[in-house]
Amino acid sequence: MRPIENSPIPQVNGVNKAFTNYQEWREDLADAYGQHCVFCNDRLQSRFEVEHLVAQSLGIVPPLAWNNLFLACGPCNLAKSARVATAATHYLPNANNTHMIFSYTIRKHRKNGKYACIPVFNPLLNPNQRTKAINTITYTELNRIEQTPVRQRKMTDVRWLNRYTAFQVANTQRALWNTLTTPQQRAAYLAAIPPMIEKNGFFSIWFDAFTGVKDVLRVIVNSLPNTSMACFDANFNPQHRRPADPVDTI
Ligand SMILES: [Zn+2]
Repeated sequence: MRPIENSPIPQVNGVNKAFTNYQEWREDLADAYGQHCVFCNDRLQSRFEVEHLVAQSLGIVPPLAWNNLFLACGPCNLAKSARVATAATHYLPNANNTHMIFSYTIRKHRKNGKYACIPVFNPLLNPNQRTKAINTITYTELNRIEQTPVRQRKMTDVRWLNRYTAFQVANTQRALWNTLTTPQQRAAYLAAIPPMIEKNGFFSIWFDAFTGVKDVLRVIVNSLPNTSMACFDANFNPQHRRPADPVDTI
């Protein structure tokens, strides 16, 4: 899950924009954070849902607060509809290094035999961190593969399949990178990779595929607007978000 920095409130002629309905922020949110779901990081094709990151029902954050609004895909939106997330119980992409909380695993879909890539909690987490990571997965059902018929009628959920496609593309690209030998080849590659990341989505899948390749990691981080630089060191190794978080957060 891509960690992000809140973007400043959009302005018109030097004055902060204001809307009467939070859905009106949709285009500004796409400009600020790119066309990817804030939770699963899948590419948003045409239907963008505007989400309150900290649930409106808690009454903590004003309903039109720009800093609490992000874009989400249909399946994440549907899954979280009856659930509530807070910074105390969940990892939030604008508060934590959410890249560090998951690992990814491959398994087969029971019914159709296709492969799925799904997040699991990072085994390096301590027990409290694991609980928060699992809560974060549960919140938007990021590990859903098979659907119930009732759910299927409401929403087609192919996040698992799209994530697997991104996994395949990213790892094929890493193998290609390993064959490049000249500075010219590598420079051409670095110029070509941002559209692939934009199109396929799933920031963390790309980041993991290029572990240790500083030049490509820099491009990945900069390919998507407002990725949190506080979550990576000078060599683009993931680190606890700066400034340091309270105990048991990442
Ligand atoms: Zn999503």
